[in-house]
Amino acid sequence: MTTRRELLGQATGALAGIAFTGCGLTHTASAQTPVRRAEVVVNGKRVKTVDIHAHCHIPEALELMGQKVRFPGLVIGPDRIKVMDEQRIDIEALSINPNFWDKAERDLAAQVVKLQNEKLAEICGKTPDRFVGLASVALAHPDLAAEQLQEAVKRLGLRGALVGGSVNGTELSDPKLHPFWAKAEELGVLVFIHPQGTPELEASGRLKGSGGLTNTIGNPLETTIALSHLIFEGTLDRFPGLKICGAHAGGYLPSYAARSDQMCLNRPDQCSVALKKQPSEYLKQLYFDSMVFTPEGLRHLVAEVGASQIVIGTDYPFPWTKTAVDHILDTPGLSDADRVAMLGETASKLLGIKT
Ligand SMILES: [Zn+2]
Repeated sequence: MTTRRELLGQATGALAGIAFTGCGLTHTASAQTPVRRAEVVVNGKRVKTVDIHAHCHIPEALELMGQKVRFPGLVIGPDRIKVMDEQRIDIEALSINPNFWDKAERDLAAQVVKLQNEKLAEICGKTPDRFVGLASVALAHPDLAAEQLQEAVKRLGLRGALVGGSVNGTELSDPKLHPFWAKAEELGVLVFIHPQGTPELEASGRLKGSGGLTNTIGNPLETTIALSHLIFEGTLDRFPGLKICGAHAGGYLPSYAARSDQMCLNRPDQCSVALKKQPSEYLKQLYFDSMVFTPEGLRHLVAEVGASQIVIGTDYPFPWTKTAVDHILDTPGLSDADRVAMLGETASKLLGIKT
């Protein structure tokens, strides 16, 4: 566990203009002695840090599908806030992966999503200074998904939605899904695209063996495919007001964006949909979480998409990182404004969080 003294010690080693103060009190579910948590301050400005990539499960919704929570950290309790304090995350945008209801028939999917969104809203309502919620939707039934998003945002106060990188083999750019994108654009809310693996590749056996390739490679590949279709099929031209964030820093797309432009120059016959911009330019209107792990990875992501498009992602409770805040504070070459934007300012605007 990291103590506050250690956090303050790290702060003195951080870049000039950055300091931590300990004036915040943690919210505790019990009446035990409150523990002070280190706050992040950049150049004298307190920054509310926001993690856009934070998973949870609602056990009652899983039960509707005959399933149980397999990873206890997914159930929200006081421990979650303790870890957020240790990692200096002020607010998590909680969301739920749709892989367990994507294939459910319409009525069951409607029940699961309704229960899930209501329970998620309840959690956020009890601790509004630490959690906001991204709704679940039944994307396999796009008209229902649009209604669910409207209900979740307007009645339950959720701030957007999480969708997979495809749904049962249907690409996110498929015209069948236009009603959902139209609703998300109309409501002006964030859609977080989180991959659900690449089942087609898994079926081929090519991702078997050591290395957890279904996740290591399969997840970023799924996001890369999803974002590429949204660009190349003209979905982002059709719905220019969409606010979309790609998980895991958008997969491989930002690290190889120029190839998309070069393809259309090299083989214009392969680019059958006329776009309003160069393919790589759409990256500057998308958002990406910061899950690239190294300062060089973050520097390159900033160079490709702009600091204004990057938000913190931890993937909690999966133990990919405990240092998402330090990652942004310690990457050389960023301005204070860049750091403030990435740590929480941009995510707060996207999620309607008061700063
Ligand atoms: Zn995740």
